Amino acid sequence: MKVTKFGGSSLASATQLCKVLDIIKADYERRFVVVSAPGKRTAEDTKVTDALIKYYQNYKAGNDVTADQEWIIERYRAIIEELSLGSAILDKIAKAIKDLATLPIDNNRFLYDTFLAAGEDNNAKLIAEFFSQNDVPAQYIHPKEAGIIVSSEPGNARILPSSYDKLENLREYNDVLVIPGFFGVTVDDEICTFSRGGSDITGSIVAAGVKADLYENFTDVNGIFAAHPGVIDNPHSIPELTYKEMRELAYAGFSVLHDEALIPAYRGKVPLVIKNTNNPDHPGTKIVIEHTGKDIPVIGIAGDDHFVSINMSKYLMNREVGFGRKVLQILEDLNIRFEHMPTGIDDMSIVLRDRELTPIKEQEIITQLTRKLEVDHIDIQHDLSIIMIVGENMKSQVGVMSTATKALSDNHINLTMISQGSSEVSIMFVINSEDEKKAVRALYDAFFK
Ligand code: ASP
Repeated sequence: MKVTKFGGSSLASATQLCKVLDIIKADYERRFVVVSAPGKRTAEDTKVTDALIKYYQNYKAGNDVTADQEWIIERYRAIIEELSLGSAILDKIAKAIKDLATLPIDNNRFLYDTFLAAGEDNNAKLIAEFFSQNDVPAQYIHPKEAGIIVSSEPGNARILPSSYDKLENLREYNDVLVIPGFFGVTVDDEICTFSRGGSDITGSIVAAGVKADLYENFTDVNGIFAAHPGVIDNPHSIPELTYKEMRELAYAGFSVLHDEALIPAYRGKVPLVIKNTNNPDHPGTKIVIEHTGKDIPVIGIAGDDHFVSINMSKYLMNREVGFGRKVLQILEDLNIRFEHMPTGIDDMSIVLRDRELTPIKEQEIITQLTRKLEVDHIDIQHDLSIIMIVGENMKSQVGVMSTATKALSDNHINLTMISQGSSEVSIMFVINSEDEKKAVRALYDAFFK
């Protein structure tokens, strides 16, 4: 059994929905279909979810919402008419969209989420109808009925572990089940969404819940590229990567899949594949628990900017008990998250994302480190990037670091810091942001060309 999730761009128009139908028809194991709201048809278009946000804002402000309602209904109408699905489904969707503007505004913590969820919810109804009229017996199922019960955290829901037992019962249905992504219901029956892009999370939860053999995530690219296509011309897509590798790449800016979507499938030991709705014969990228081969040391190269490094040194730092704890305490007191902490004998750097700092916090850190910890030197370096070379198999191969550093030095790229965790899933270099693209290109050439 497979759980098949389609993203917004795969569901943006009638043409896209016909591709989706063909994909479902091509494999009878695709029994659970999780859908996003209709996405953009062109780069300038608006996603239905974003249109719902505008509708919500106008409703809350007491403005006229007719134009917002019409725009959203028109998006569904265009699809329904082109697919000749009949007026009953359109009337149902139009009513659901209009009814949003009858919900109580005051003391309603879940109003925003209820508006947003309507994009997925109505699309699931439309798609179930489309399948049924085209020889795929299908039914729409609401997350409440399916058993997707979530915490009461508007805009940031988390699945409650008890959901998984109920979800398993979905295996008993004979029809293809079309499940709206992105939201669940709380124990008090309120609609509560995951964070933006959260339909991926629903797919992963359903896959774990029904103990699927595979979670297929259909998007508009041929899987996950080995490097950012904005930096490398036509990078190849990675045939297979592990969950750990995916986490590392996602951390450094790869954003094909929602960060939180990996966890349920990983824990449920369900392999995941990212595929392209517009090119379904392409094998895509498979995300697995363990690699099937041991030969490829590096699978991807990522770069991300907006990092800052707090560098300090103090003679005989290594002999001072509690030095590191005190440094981190200063950060904790200022509510600052840090990312990496490369050290030398007498020096320590804390690498963090620049959004964590304000000029006032920076000054406070300098003052406290100087006064309380009596450091000999402190500076804060801005405009840094991290470059990650990712591959679980590098731990069993010699020479990955030397290939990387040679490529970087041949291109005159100065390394500010190097860090490698003991699990050896990745090597991280900190460099000046102005060299980021050059570094990614140099490493891509060195490892893949
Ligand atoms: N429609 C929602 C969003 O745009 C969720 C999703 O597409 O995954 O964020």
